[in-house]
Parts: sequence; structure tokens; C-alpha cells
Amino acid sequence: MKRITTLLLCLLAIVNLSAQSHSHTGPGAITYPNIEGYITLKADLHQHTVFSDGNVWPRIRVMEALRDSLDVISLTEHLEYQPHIDDIPHPDRNRSFKLALAEAKDHNLLVVHGTEITRQPPAGHSNAIFITDANPMLVKDSVAAFAEAKKQGAFVFWNHPAWYPQSRTGNPILSDFQKDRIKNNELHGIEVINSKDYAEESLALALEHNLTIMGTSDVHDLITWDYTQEDNHRPITLIFAKEKSEASIREALFQRRTVAAYNDLLVGRPEFLNPLLQSCIQITKASYIPDSDILEVVLRNVSSSDLLFENAMPYTFYSRAPIFEAPAKGTVVLQIKTLERMKAVDLRLKALRAYTAPKTQPTLSWDVTVE
Ligand code: ZN
Repeated sequence: MKRITTLLLCLLAIVNLSAQSHSHTGPGAITYPNIEGYITLKADLHQHTVFSDGNVWPRIRVMEALRDSLDVISLTEHLEYQPHIDDIPHPDRNRSFKLALAEAKDHNLLVVHGTEITRQPPAGHSNAIFITDANPMLVKDSVAAFAEAKKQGAFVFWNHPAWYPQSRTGNPILSDFQKDRIKNNELHGIEVINSKDYAEESLALALEHNLTIMGTSDVHDLITWDYTQEDNHRPITLIFAKEKSEASIREALFQRRTVAAYNDLLVGRPEFLNPLLQSCIQITKASYIPDSDILEVVLRNVSSSDLLFENAMPYTFYSRAPIFEAPAKGTVVLQIKTLERMKAVDLRLKALRAYTAPKTQPTLSWDVTVE
């Protein structure tokens, strides 16, 4: 009996611990809640395989995406840069897409046909996705490659514009080439997060030129090598779509309904980032500590991002610093000194690792009804 009691206590302790702990120990689904009017789809639309300079077969990318619980991926092989071509000759530049598509067919994962147009500055690197055939984009003239992508109805985004091998300051250089592409409706998005790099200057360009905000892994080796266990998950783009279909995702991207997400960092336009943050936090309990005017509120973070908040209320906390973390898939308890007993409280918090513009973090508010 004692042994059973001990076992039960251990189990209870484990259950309790896991409720408090972070999600990034070991493999786990990446989760973000839906927002009103849209479902939130998780996308990694910039990845490589052996069909360009990556080091894994397309099947592995599909398996990794399923393991991370992604909804949509694209394999964006460099058209022009083919270091494995002697070992894996493939005159058809659509080959990796076809292999991934066949692999994903029995799973709830969408594979979008894409490719990377790879040039020296000023053109730089761009991904064209929702293409019908990569081969005709393999042309010398950069302008012609973009024109072909447009002809195929592609959504095109500028990859790692802040990458220092192409811009030594680590800041994006918007050249006449990009300006012309934007003007011609041939460039629609921009990576503000590429692999582990976030560029505020790229976010500024996105806002100034009305481009879709993107976050991608640009993975070349295994996801678990490039994004180790200390990291929560690979950078992704959260897409707010009407349904989980290719057409809906395409529409959402052209309409700029995205948030770039990498671990605890979330970057997006306020009309999508704010409702996302709002949905990430659920109030599971709100009651006064007996014989006190201290309101205890339990927040549950249902997302895969550790969220860092700062108290933005007129009331102070009893037991905690004004800056606190709501761990991914975990809970946090706030004790708010409301000075008198109230029936409802406007919980106001500033999200410190979320950006709607460079150096601009949103303040969110939740209606808390006291039990
Ligand atoms: Zn790439």
C-alpha cells in the first residue's frame, strides 16, 4: 500500500511539474491558438534538401514537419546553386517538391510548390511559392525570373535581406531592383526572421512597403541539429487563414495576415499579433485570497512561446516582480492588489517580446470576472 501511495505521489508530482514546465524538452507539437475569424496555421516556407544545398532527403522534411505539428511547408531549393548535382543529377527542378508531395499525401500536411531564386545583390535571394513549374525560372536575367514567377501566380518573398554576406552592416539594402519588383507586384513578402536572426530594419521595410511579414527556418541540416533543445522551436510563419487549404493560405499571405514566431519572439501587425496574444492567455481562475483585497488570477499560456509580460495596470502585484514570464504551455499565478474587492478587473499587460513595429510592443487587456 505504501508503495502504491508513493507511486501515486510521484505521479502527482510529475503531473504537477509538467503542468508548470516548458514545452521544449524533447519533441513536441508546436501550438498556437486560433484568432477570431481565422484558423492559425503553422508554416515553414523556406527549407532545403539534397536537391540544392541541404543535406537531407525531402522525406525527412515531411517527417520533421509532422513531428513539429506544422500545417504547411515548402521546399525552396536554390535553382542556381546545386552542390550535390554530380551525385544527384536531376534536370527537373521540381523533383524535391514531387517527392515531398508523395510523402505527405497520407498526412494532414500541405506541401506548397516553391523554389529559391538565388542571385548576388542587388537582387539577392527570394522564394517564389505557389509556382507551377520551377524550371522556366532558371534563367540568367533576374528580372525575367521574377516575371516568370508572376506569370505562374507566385507569392514571392525576399529572403534574409539583412544577411551580412550580402550586406556587411547586417541591415537590409532596398535597391531599385526590389523597388521595381514591389511596384510590379512581383515581390510580396519579406523575412523579418530568418533562421536565428531577427532584423528590426526588415520589419520596418515590411511596414513601409506593405509586405507580408515572414519567419522561416531556412534549414539545411536536420531541424533538431539546427534548432537544439535549448531552443523552443524553429522559426515559423503563423498564417491566419479561413480554412486549411492551399488557396486559403495563398489568399492569407497576399493579404498579409501573418505573425513571425521564433521561440519567445513574436513579430506581426497589431491586427493579428494582438488577437493572437490575447488568445494565447486564458484566465482559468480569479478569486480573492480570504480576508484580503488581493485578487489571485491564474493565467494559462496555451502557446509554444514563453511570453514575457510587464504589468500595465494601476494596481501592483503582491508576490511577484512587475515583469514576469508566462511559460509556454504552462501557468502563472498573479496576486493583484486591487485595494478593494472588485467584481471585475481589466487585466492589462505589455507583451515585452512581441513587436508590432521596431521597438514597439503591444499592451493587451483581458476582462477578468471575479468568481
Ligand atoms: Zn534558402
